[in-house]
Amino acid sequence: MRNPNSLLIGGAWTAARDGGERRVVNPCDGSLLATVVEAGAPEVDEAVRAARTAFDEGAWSGAPAARRAGVLTATADTVQRHREELALLETLDTGKTLAESRTDVDDATAVLRYYAALATTDAGRTVETGRPDAVSRVLHEPVGVCALITPWNYPLLQICWKVAPALAAGNTVVAKPSELTPLTTIRLFELLQDRLAEAGAPDGTINLLLGPAAVGAPLTEHPMVDLVSFTGGLATGRAVMRAAAGTVKRLALELGGKNPNIVFADADPEAAVDFALTAAFLHSGQVCSAGSRLLLHRSLHEEFTAELARRADLIRLGSGLAKETESGPLISAEHRAKVEEHVARALAEGAVLRAGGGRPREEVLRKGYFLRPTVLDECHAGMAVVREEVFGPVLTVETFEEEAEALALANDTPYGLAGAVWTGDAGRAERVAARLRLGTVWINDYHPYVPQAEWGGYKQSGTGRELGPAGLREYQETKHVWRTLDPAPQRWFAG
Ligand code: NAD
Repeated sequence: MRNPNSLLIGGAWTAARDGGERRVVNPCDGSLLATVVEAGAPEVDEAVRAARTAFDEGAWSGAPAARRAGVLTATADTVQRHREELALLETLDTGKTLAESRTDVDDATAVLRYYAALATTDAGRTVETGRPDAVSRVLHEPVGVCALITPWNYPLLQICWKVAPALAAGNTVVAKPSELTPLTTIRLFELLQDRLAEAGAPDGTINLLLGPAAVGAPLTEHPMVDLVSFTGGLATGRAVMRAAAGTVKRLALELGGKNPNIVFADADPEAAVDFALTAAFLHSGQVCSAGSRLLLHRSLHEEFTAELARRADLIRLGSGLAKETESGPLISAEHRAKVEEHVARALAEGAVLRAGGGRPREEVLRKGYFLRPTVLDECHAGMAVVREEVFGPVLTVETFEEEAEALALANDTPYGLAGAVWTGDAGRAERVAARLRLGTVWINDYHPYVPQAEWGGYKQSGTGRELGPAGLREYQETKHVWRTLDPAPQRWFAG
């Protein structure tokens, strides 16, 4: 498959003049999926200017909310019609199972529909002026040109989390997906561009650039970009923040996590073990909210860890296309090497291997970037594997005696994205949830989310929120309009 026309700039699908080409490979076996063109510096500038012109022209930014909502609803319907095609592309590109990809397509649809509905109910508010001759309104307006930069683990979902509220608010966008997994974003933008054209939106309302950091970085510095919404790693997030400071851009950062999963002695043991596996090993642990730090009450430790390790060893690795596969590969050989380094260092630092720890033996998996789900016991906060985001199928186990100790361990991290508490005691559940410094807390569950509820991180897991009403606010300026109905001289100055 070869798609040379994969940059969308000012309404036209175009090839880059001096950008490179990239081979997009299937992480399951290293085979070539597509060769895509990448943007060079001229295309970055052209895309931003196209978005600027489209925004300033006003036909989209000033369009009735119902028209913007209509585009999002039509896109949601189109995405559902292309459900199988998009799910297949996502599985080929990321390695995740088809079941996961189908869920991602459905979740992407739900977020498009949610912001379509929210767009039409966001009429601002009037406020009390204390004067009968004056009215005062607080309005929400689009921010302007938004750069949307996404990671490789949930390509379709992450771009929908951004593009849906951005368009609902009336912005124009320049998107840049991860260079490792651009395929579903390309397809989504083809479908979305058609819906925008049908609605009479100006060319340049959405633009798509492909490429690595060299394409993302100039977007974060460009003086015509008003807002950067970035999802990715902590180190990149810091670079984005520094770059955006030059022109004081609006910033939304969704960064990494080192998420605690706390199990008290009175938790339902069967459910807690089951969800500890899902928390840590879904999508091979390449999930920002992965429950990678298991904190167990000491009384549970032996039995719980043994059962966890037994079930981890049973997880069936393979191609995401195969029905029996439960977990796919890591995204690249380089990423797997980093995860392996983490495991080796943890073992050198005293961790005890209870499951996995290496590559699968099956010959058929040899060409893919697979790693066995790994459980490391006897871990402590001094270990790098406990402190740093590994972003792979690696679960560390620590123990605690008291509730306060569990909380201290859970919060002892620069991250603050998500986590869970398992207990049969409702009072304890609420107490612990209240004191966890996390953007999302699950009680007796792991991983569920809904588009109506905000998502984002405390501390160094980011700034701002996606989803929910706050997810729309990220893409809006707030304007206060005061109007005096019958103006008369005030005579503040007597002369
Ligand atoms: P990454 O930081 O390497 O890359 C993310 C995106 O930024 C890519 O598109 C990349 O090309 C681009 N980029 C790289 N350098 C840049 C620069 N200097 N300026 C602008 N753009 C740049 O992250 P990744 O490896 O693709 O994704 C994994 C990370 O994403 C993990 O840390 C994970 O926790 C995080 N993540 C967070 C969330 C969340 O909701 N908080 C969701 C998914 C992933």
